[in-house]
Amino acid sequence: MLISRARSLKGGILIIVMFSFGILSLTYGIFLNVIIKDYANSRLAERERSAELVRRGLVHNLEHLIQLSINLSRPRDIHEAIEGMNNDALSDWGKAFSKSVSSILFIDTDGTVIARAPDEFRFGDSVRSETFFRGARDDGSFSGVSIVEGQAALVACYPVYKYNDTVVGYVSIFKDITEKFLEGLLPEKDMRLSFLGTIASTSPIKLSPSIENPILISVADGAFSLSFLPSPEYLRLLGLQGDILSAFAVVTAGTIILLLFFLNRHFRPYTEIVDALVDYSENHASLEELRRSISNTHLSSTGEICYISRALVKMIAVIEEKMRSIQSYSEKLEFLATRDSLTELWNRRKMDQILVAETNVVDRTAGDLSLIMVDIDFFKRVNDTFGHESGDKVLLSVAATIVDSLRQSDEVGRWGGEEFLAVLPDTDLPEAFDCAERARKAIEGCLLDNCISVTASFGVTQYRPGEPINEFVSRADKALYLAKERGRNMTCVSPS
Ligand code: GH3
Ligand code: MG
Ligand code: MG
Repeated sequence: MLISRARSLKGGILIIVMFSFGILSLTYGIFLNVIIKDYANSRLAERERSAELVRRGLVHNLEHLIQLSINLSRPRDIHEAIEGMNNDALSDWGKAFSKSVSSILFIDTDGTVIARAPDEFRFGDSVRSETFFRGARDDGSFSGVSIVEGQAALVACYPVYKYNDTVVGYVSIFKDITEKFLEGLLPEKDMRLSFLGTIASTSPIKLSPSIENPILISVADGAFSLSFLPSPEYLRLLGLQGDILSAFAVVTAGTIILLLFFLNRHFRPYTEIVDALVDYSENHASLEELRRSISNTHLSSTGEICYISRALVKMIAVIEEKMRSIQSYSEKLEFLATRDSLTELWNRRKMDQILVAETNVVDRTAGDLSLIMVDIDFFKRVNDTFGHESGDKVLLSVAATIVDSLRQSDEVGRWGGEEFLAVLPDTDLPEAFDCAERARKAIEGCLLDNCISVTASFGVTQYRPGEPINEFVSRADKALYLAKERGRNMTCVSPS
């Protein structure tokens, strides 16, 4: 439980740290994003204003061409010059007005160029199939963007009337869409205007209004795109956002590594103690091993864990001491419960248990089992003559003599006052008889304090497999009774 507590504590601390860093970086990220968005929106509005200025500039230029074409279509000299195909006169008129434009063309009704200004070459060309000419001829006038011989230009083409109703020709004025011209339309330097083509010739352009995308401007059939150089402030903000996020990532990773290192160091002794306790509780280690491993932790630790481990070591020492005394008490209890207090032979209760166990063995294995019952002869007289204390000594001496006369594997107990019972495993009746005789003779030949000599009578029998224990004992008792009857100090056998 401590392990899981230590681990969950570690996990909890890490989660709190990561959560705090997460919230911090999220807040910074959100604030910065708001700033960047605000900035982008203000830039967007600026861009829209710039685009409007550019569009107006284009319109203004076109209107200027229209006005100029109208003005040049009016003078009587011009329609007469067109009618008279007076190239020189028209050239002069053209030159006079061509300062702010790229070129001026005077065209007859068939589309043949009568005069061209400011360059006078190539008159006689036909512009019959050009868009601007067809537009002017079909619709009464033309103004817009036209591409003539690969050069895009703003064009205004207006008919020249005779008597206000008869068209005698056309005056067409061009302003070439050159890079320089487009540059002149820009209100600021950090933008770029380019001509995309006529709307009919360009595929539909869809541009979303974002700070990165150029703005599409369409003026009289012409499509232009106004793009913006990335603003240093915007780039700086984006960079700042990236820097802050990377700084947070680095700081978070560093903090987590340091925290892990610190927590591992801090929790190691706790984990050692818990491991030792778990080993002990699962019987993988003894109490002594538990005490040793906690002592090691105690020696290598400081602070709180040092106090904890020292307390645990003391506690284990107390437990060990208690367990030792419990063990000794239980051994004493076991002795008292099974031994006769005077002779220290098995008591009657224990002899009953031995009889049960040994008869069970014989019932299972069909071996031999015999019983010898011993009673000291005229023991009352010993007491009466020499006193009770001497009687006790005699009892002790007889008990020791019986034990010495039998094998190690034989079990001897005190059955009553001066009666003893011996259980002889793996012994048949004749062997048991021999043992009894050996014991009887040893008792008979034994001289005790005050020259006391006693004899004892023996009853011997062999176990009949399956018979009740009381019958088995009763037969030995009967054999003993027989020995008493026949004069004592003898061994009688009860046939099995
Ligand atoms: P028998 O030959 O017929 O067995 O005669 P006995 O005198 O031995 O038998 P009896 O049953 O008349 O007397 C037994 C005596 O054993 C009586 C009792 O005082 C004595 N006795 C029993 N237990 C103890 C004991 O623990 N210590 C002493 N000193 N005497 C005991
Ligand atoms: Mg007796
Ligand atoms: Mg007796």
